[in-house]
Formats: sequence, C-alpha cells, structure tokens
Amino acid sequence: MPDLIKVAKFGGTSMANAQAMQRCANIIADDPDKKVIVVSATSGTTNLLTQICESPIDSERLEHIQEIRDKHSVICAELKNSDSLTRQISEIIDTLEEMVIGAGIMNMQMRDEVLAFGERLSSLLFTEFLKEQSPEAQWVDAREVMKTDTLHGNAEPNIDAIAENAASKWLPLIKNHRLVTQGFIGSSDNGVTTTLGRGGSDYSAALFAEGLDADVLEIWTDVTAIYTTDPRIVDDAKPITEISFDEAAELSVFGAKVLHPATLKPAIRKQVRVYVGSSIRPDQPGTWIVKETKSNPVIRAISLRRNQTLLNVHSLDMLHRFGFLARLFETLAKYKISVDLVTTSEVSVSLTLDTDIQSDGKHRLTDKVLDELREFCDVKIEKGLSLIAVVGNNLHATAGLSGPVFGALENINVRLICHGASSHNLCFLVKEEQAEDVVKILHSKFITQKNS
Ligand code: ADP
Ligand code: ASP
Ligand code: MG
Repeated sequence: MPDLIKVAKFGGTSMANAQAMQRCANIIADDPDKKVIVVSATSGTTNLLTQICESPIDSERLEHIQEIRDKHSVICAELKNSDSLTRQISEIIDTLEEMVIGAGIMNMQMRDEVLAFGERLSSLLFTEFLKEQSPEAQWVDAREVMKTDTLHGNAEPNIDAIAENAASKWLPLIKNHRLVTQGFIGSSDNGVTTTLGRGGSDYSAALFAEGLDADVLEIWTDVTAIYTTDPRIVDDAKPITEISFDEAAELSVFGAKVLHPATLKPAIRKQVRVYVGSSIRPDQPGTWIVKETKSNPVIRAISLRRNQTLLNVHSLDMLHRFGFLARLFETLAKYKISVDLVTTSEVSVSLTLDTDIQSDGKHRLTDKVLDELREFCDVKIEKGLSLIAVVGNNLHATAGLSGPVFGALENINVRLICHGASSHNLCFLVKEEQAEDVVKILHSKFITQKNS
C-alpha cells in the first residue's frame, strides 16, 4: 500500500485545453501520493450537453455535437500518440449522436446518460496526457464504484456500496497505478448512469476519498484558494490559508461555487484533510480545510447564493394552534421540496427554497403544491432574491454584530434574516440586483478594513 493516499480532483477549467491538461499532469507527476485523479468535463462541455438535452431540435443538437467534436479533437491532436485515441473519441461522439438525433424530448434518465459523455471524454483524454509523464496512469470507470439511487439529475450516493467497491476494485489497483476517473457520474444498482447534480465532481472526489480512507482530498481549480468572497465580485478578496470544516461547509452551502455544497460531508465523516489550490498557479499557497483552525475570526468570509424563492405562508389559524407547521412541512416534504431558511411569527411563516426550477426545467412549486397549501393557508411567492451569508465563528454569541452589519446596509431592503441557529453564519435575503453591492459593502467594511 502507498504511504499516503491522496485523491485529487481537477475541475472544468483545469481540463479546458491541452495546455491546461499538461499543467495538471505535471502537478500529479510531481507527487507519487496522488493516487486517484477525478476529473470534470472540459470546460463548457456539460453546458453544451445540457443544451442538447433541452432542445429537441435535431439541427441544434448537431451543431452542439460538432462543437464538442471540434473541442475534443483539438485537444487530442496535441498528444504525442493520438491515433487510436482520436478514433476512440470520435466513436464515442458518434454514439452520442445516434442516441440524441431523433430522440425528441428526453426523460431524466436519458439526460444523465447524455451528460455523462462530458466526463467520459475528458477522462480518456487526460489519462493519455498523464501517461506521457506517468506511465502507470490507468483509466477507470467511476460508475463501477459510485453507486447511487435512481433520482436522476441529483442522485443520492450509497456510501456503503461506494466504500465496498472502492476497497475491492480500486485499492488493489493503486499499489501500482494511478487511477484517472470521472467526477459527477455514477450508476444505480441496475447499472443505469446517474449524475450527482451540477458541480458534482467535487462531491464525487470526496466520496471516493471517504471510500478509500484517503489521507488528503485535493480540489484543484481556477482560483488559488478559497477567498474571503468570490474574487469575481470583489477585486480585493483575500485568499484564506486555513478554514474550519464548519465554516467552509457553510460557505459552500450558501453559494461559494468553489466547492459543491455536499463536498465536505464525506470529508468530515472520515476526517480527511482537504486542500483547495489552483492548477494554473500551483506554486501559490492554497487553503487547508481542517477540523480546528489556529485563528477563529468572527467574520471570515461572505457568500452569495442567487435565484432564491421566498414562500410566505399566512394563516390566522396558526395563532395558538398546534400542528400548523407540521402540516406545512409535511406538504412540502410530500413533493420533495427542501427548505433552506425559515422564520415565523404568530400568523405567518417565511421560508426559502433554492430556486424553484428543478434540473429538468420543471417548477417545484407546481399548481398542485400551491393548491394543497391553499387549503389551509394563504400563500405568496417572491422571486428575484439572493441569499447573503456572513460566515465565521461564534456569530450567534457576538454582541453588537447585527447592528453594524445591517447599519452598513441602511439603503438596502433586507428580507428575511436568519441569525442564531448556527454559530457560523448570519444569513439574509436581498433583491438580486442589489446582491453584489451588498457583498462589496460588507466585504469592504468587515474584511478589508479590519485587516488593513
Ligand atoms: P471548477 O471548474 O474547478 O470546479 P468552479 O467554477 O466550480 O471551478 O469553482 C471555482 C469558482 O468559484 C471561482 O472561479 C470563483 O469565481 C468561484 N467562487 C465563489 N466563491 C468563492 C470563494 N469564496 N473563493 C474562491 N472562489 C469562489
Ligand atoms: N461537469 C459537471 C458540471 O459542469 C460536474 C463538475 O464540473 O463538477 O456541472
Ligand atoms: Mg466546480
């Protein structure tokens, strides 16, 4: 067995072209402990595949397929020995074409089959790039290990089956090989392809790390670290060298795209240390996510999650009655609607849903759900909102925190505030068009100025 097992995940921009793949291969070749490599589709490919699923018009589908062909053949041509791989890639894309042309509107099972092509193609290409530097590289099919339920588009992993498969199928191989596999995709018990939801490759890598009892999970991406906020919004966002699991989990759940929201769950269960770094600038220090950090600032970072739907439920029957909230949540649970934030008063409840649109483009809050809710309360829906989370430590018990935070936002209409439920966050909703300004104001006042 190797001394250390590291699972390293490389995202879409890290797979964007031959040069990017080469850089990732260098990072891996330098470290013999990187035993399992999990890759995303080349950047933009999952979006193209999603468009193929969404448009039933064959001519549009063909255009997107051509784009995918061109992209992958350009990368393939940069390999030293590309002939057999060029053929293999072209055959796989032919299969995709046969599958989707004339298929009309697709069901969720077929969509997953189509989306999986992105990671299947990138992983084949990347294995060859890695082999040029590290001949022990071997391609393996993630679907043999990543077992999930059949909730297509957002499948739930079966942790025990993954651990069993990782131990029996991959552990023996990593003695002499480095495995290259796909993020995002899995398969149900009957072998049908499933996916873990957009951005799910981080989660795949974490589940594999858990299943293999790995020492370190590395997430290689296009930013050098986890920052104090999205560096695309705030120019002077600062890289964080060390953050706790709890804080990083809150950040990812509340919108920091750098990690898929479920990524840290497996790492926390098995106490796997997590590193986030840049495949473009691997020399720059990244972020370590650990159980306990040396410094624990009250405000560490700020995140933004767009597309929030606010459901306001009002009923005079709530007053001094029991069972109302139970009925409300039972109804939502029946339709598999998950609620993020909740606030209540005597006669009303406000709750947020993370976008009303599901991965198949259907609304969650269908007329059926709304009619059923209206049997026992008045319902109002507000859209076009964003959730801002201020993330840090001991926020629930820090005196004089909310005054300055909301004081800084005196010209902003703040909807629904959640404070106190977690010691690691203070959350609230604002209008979508004001959200970036809110992040800038809070970052400047509570992070930039504090540290200057
Ligand atoms: P990958 O393709 O490698 O999975 P993603 O695009 O999913 O990469 O995630 C990286 C992006 O996450 C960054 O380019 C950045 O814009 C965004 N991001 C959002 N919040 C943060 C944050 N707090 N720190 C770093 N990056 C963030
Ligand atoms: N390729 C998938 C997506 O774009 C999964 C991932 O990149 O994490 O959503
Ligand atoms: Mg990602």
